[in-house]
Amino acid sequence: MNRANFLVDTSKCVGCRKCVRVCPGGILSLNQEKQVQIANFKEFGGNGCWKCEHCLAVCPMGAISIFGHKPENSLPSVDYETAAPAMDALITNWHSCRRYQDKNVDASIISNMLNLLSNAPNGGNKQQVEYTLIDDKVQMNYFRQLAYSRMEELAAQGIYPKGFSKEAY
Ligand code: SF4
Ligand code: SF4
Repeated sequence: MNRANFLVDTSKCVGCRKCVRVCPGGILSLNQEKQVQIANFKEFGGNGCWKCEHCLAVCPMGAISIFGHKPENSLPSVDYETAAPAMDALITNWHSCRRYQDKNVDASIISNMLNLLSNAPNGGNKQQVEYTLIDDKVQMNYFRQLAYSRMEELAAQGIYPKGFSKEAY
């Protein structure tokens, strides 16, 4: 067993090299049978495995499992023809939401969002991004008032740029 628990279902691998090309550590290659293999590496990161799981994500055949993550338990990738118009619509139809229901957000929704966020790009997969989350509306209101009063203090010092006004926030 290799350190990354990298497994290939040889009955599915067609030797397309997509995983080889996307691997940032350069540790994947095809063997003589045109099956993908992982090289031994000394440590994770750098010239070893980055733990990015891009290999699992790009394999069109669902042939790769890594770190115990399996293609059958992953969200399927979306092809360009489907993704492009959806992405365009999301970007151009964006809007701010400034009116909220007076209740806490369901914990399962927050948990799901955090799980998805953990997949966001973060620079060499170093996982150095940290999110601070307030999941209680009473605490949120306290924090909001704190922020407002601090902003007003700073506004009174005249340090904000032109256009910043009480109405703006
Ligand atoms: S997890 Fe990333 S670095 Fe590790 S083998 Fe897969 S693509 Fe390469
Ligand atoms: S991307 Fe999948 S099918 Fe292509 S070489 Fe890698 S394991 Fe094989």
